[in-house]
Amino acid sequence: MSSNITFSKTHNLVELGKIYPTLKLDIRYATKNNFLGRPFYKEAKAFLQEEIAYALSGIDEDLKKDGYGLLIFDGYRPWSVTKIFWDETIPEKRKFVADPEKGSNHNRGSAVDLSLYDLKTGKEINMTCGFDEFSERAYSNYTGGTLEEKKMRDYLISKMEKSRLFKVNAYEWWHFDYIDCEKYPLLDLTFEEIL
Ligand SMILES: [Zn+2]
Repeated sequence: MSSNITFSKTHNLVELGKIYPTLKLDIRYATKNNFLGRPFYKEAKAFLQEEIAYALSGIDEDLKKDGYGLLIFDGYRPWSVTKIFWDETIPEKRKFVADPEKGSNHNRGSAVDLSLYDLKTGKEINMTCGFDEFSERAYSNYTGGTLEEKKMRDYLISKMEKSRLFKVNAYEWWHFDYIDCEKYPLLDLTFEEIL
């Protein structure tokens, strides 16, 4: 795999499950349940830059008052995985995946994919579409869908953006970039190398 990008060998990533064990994870790229239908991670873990992990745990605490919790799909993603996603996505759908020549904020550990679940039932909340659906239903301002789906999507976005620390992606209601995301270097460490 060749690229002109240089990757940092050092990192400040933390494992979400270690610093905030009550956070609910559904690490889709460790399963076949993702847009490419096969696993990319050996372990169902999520990593983020330390300050971002703490910011997220604060938002999760805030959501609890309303009976919801954050459901994490993905955090840090090795650059090699972003490269596979790009290579295996047809050109018309590439606005939904990051260009490996630029790298993704997921490669910096400064973007996170997430949704909400109901604290009482443990069930994922219905949004305008599921995670990683590459259609306009994924747009964060999509006007179709049911009123309830839109209400919950907008509720999630407002709770995430209230802190002014996260910004939703225009094409993906589940993708949030940290406000200072580009200050972190691009990484291509496997999960095993982080530990
Ligand atoms: Zn994402």
